[in-house]
Amino acid sequence: MLEFGSTATLRTYRRTSREDAWGGRREYRAVVDPFARLTVLGSLNMDISVTVPTLPAPGATVLGGGATFAPGGKGANQAVAAARLGAESGIRVRMVGCVGDDDFGRTLKASLSREGVDDSAVRTVPGAPTGIAMITVDQAGENIITVAPGANREVGQQDIAALGAPAGDLPSVLVISAEVPVQAIRAALAGAGSAAPRALTVVNLAPAPPQEEAAAILTQHPDWLVVNESEAAAVLARPVSGLQEAARAAADLVKAGAGNAVVTAGAAGAAYQVAREPSSGTVPAFAVHARDTVGAGDTFVGALAVSLAAGISPAEAITAASAAAATAATRPGTQAGMPRPADISTATGYEWPVPVAG
Ligand code: ADP
Repeated sequence: MLEFGSTATLRTYRRTSREDAWGGRREYRAVVDPFARLTVLGSLNMDISVTVPTLPAPGATVLGGGATFAPGGKGANQAVAAARLGAESGIRVRMVGCVGDDDFGRTLKASLSREGVDDSAVRTVPGAPTGIAMITVDQAGENIITVAPGANREVGQQDIAALGAPAGDLPSVLVISAEVPVQAIRAALAGAGSAAPRALTVVNLAPAPPQEEAAAILTQHPDWLVVNESEAAAVLARPVSGLQEAARAAADLVKAGAGNAVVTAGAAGAAYQVAREPSSGTVPAFAVHARDTVGAGDTFVGALAVSLAAGISPAEAITAASAAAATAATRPGTQAGMPRPADISTATGYEWPVPVAG
């Protein structure tokens, strides 16, 4: 049975904002809780990418350029996005997940640690290989991706128990993405819901699990659900394309059990349905010169989680996440392209709203 301790620190964020006379720029003063914690439960993969002139047909072999190796996996990506955006605000980010007892596993843990993510609850599973994603990209940017989950499949009870460690206190925000077993996702949500005080849960159903399992997850009422158009389509069993359909999908995902829902729609932006007023809306994408949109969704989730941890209002947190994701789209690489607050204002002109600690 999952257990969280009950000694979670009280969140003491206070924020004041005012519009100045020079065009509505906001200023924030805040008392940031030095113990605010954001935990990500999810996957870690080594991404192995090769660029080829044309993608191979079944049975064919094509020669590509040199392979590149980069840390990835949705969970680790979201943890890195959150660490880069939360560090200046004193928000501590911790990752819970599994790697194999091999060089890739050690490299992934070390890279998280370099990013300032606490990797002490990333468990090394003897006898299981570290997850890998084999990515083949052609000249036009079209790709074929094969994922071998390896140790990510081993995420289970022991790891769920670690969500409340080391002092037994629950994180302020728990981010869960779906490249780990559905049983683990459900156990984590059950634990977060029964702890006192509750952790705010942000669930990213990516990739979307089979529809019945997704429906069961929603009946556990995650505070926030974030999905892209194709994941929303899979969960709702109908096509979802464009901002208007994304808005209807967000409303239906809340009806299905999510506390608040965001459906991202790539270069079109994002639509949301939230419990607080204004209860629904769309946030058009920030106009940027996109170079590499891989990782935009993970940046969105990490940025949203940091904003919510800091007590930013839902609508503004979604705008902040959109600005962070647009910035990531302007930069090459997945984790490599994830922004710090200053990068966001440079790329989009939007001032990251989470106050600096101190
Ligand atoms: P995923 O990467 O999970 O498929 P999306 O493609 O929907 O997610 O992108 C997530 C968010 O990233 C979007 O809602 C949008 O805010 C931002 N985004 C994605 N592509 C672009 C782009 N070309 N220009 C600006 N923002 C983008």
